[in-house]
Amino acid sequence: MKRSCLILAAALVVLTALAGAGPQAAKPAAAPLSVHYEELTSPDFARAVAQSGGTCIVPLGILEKHGPHLPLGTDLIDCREISLRAAAADYTIVFPPYFVGQIFEAEHQPGTIAYGSRMMLDLLQRTCDELARNGLKKIILVNGHGGNDPFLHFFCQAQLETRRDYIVYLFEPSYDEATEAKLDKMRKTTVDGHAGEEETSVMLAHHPELVRLDRAKDESGEDQKRQAGLKNAYTGIWWYAGQPNHYRGDGSAGNAAFGQVLLETETAALVEMIRSVKKDAVTAELQKRFFDDAAKPLETKPFIKK
Ligand SMILES: [Zn+2]
Repeated sequence: MKRSCLILAAALVVLTALAGAGPQAAKPAAAPLSVHYEELTSPDFARAVAQSGGTCIVPLGILEKHGPHLPLGTDLIDCREISLRAAAADYTIVFPPYFVGQIFEAEHQPGTIAYGSRMMLDLLQRTCDELARNGLKKIILVNGHGGNDPFLHFFCQAQLETRRDYIVYLFEPSYDEATEAKLDKMRKTTVDGHAGEEETSVMLAHHPELVRLDRAKDESGEDQKRQAGLKNAYTGIWWYAGQPNHYRGDGSAGNAAFGQVLLETETAALVEMIRSVKKDAVTAELQKRFFDDAAKPLETKPFIKK
């Protein structure tokens, strides 16, 4: 380097240092916070709790067979995708992969991990307790697995067992007629429910490399109706009776365009839910009143609408 260049470089260093020390020096803008819980530093986590309004999402999936053509983690891969997209649209924190749920009905298929019923209740309750202890008082469960539905409804109901300083919300989207009609128009099959047209389409839309579409017809996804003679009765074996291959529908009908619309529709519904949860003050008030009354039921006054 020539001497003149050295002098110029030194002058630049001094000028830069002076500019940095000046009263007008702009403070570097804080980096945007990750929506991934596990990517936040501890000090950033505290900022994230404030920015999220004390909300978070726990996406719940399972490890189970998804027909002969979709990955074992399909439910979690899909519901995390929707959760991450929604969290980016209206900031909230997304809990790391959570695979513990109800899946006894697929224990006969390779790859299923089924935890005990008490264990899954305790683990989810403790997870929620810990999130609330860290300031996340509004917990949104986003379920990707149909077999979790009864379990999660029971879990939500069981939140009334003892007084809690937080609220568990379960994401349950419903769509208007126009949206339903739009989806129906794109749908090619009439029987669906597990690894069929919808789930295959969604995976094709965001992780096509994980779909083995050529294998989708290797097994039957038809309802086998093996309990057809049983009337007005429910048994836990009902799913296995109808879907012994743990496959319901026809995944070969899947296509990325339909999957894209399904992803966008569900993400929009979740964004709408996040916004309403952030504003929600009624549920906390109702929970408080309920637990106050439940502690002294003999003093509960009749409810009179104001
Ligand atoms: Zn599932």
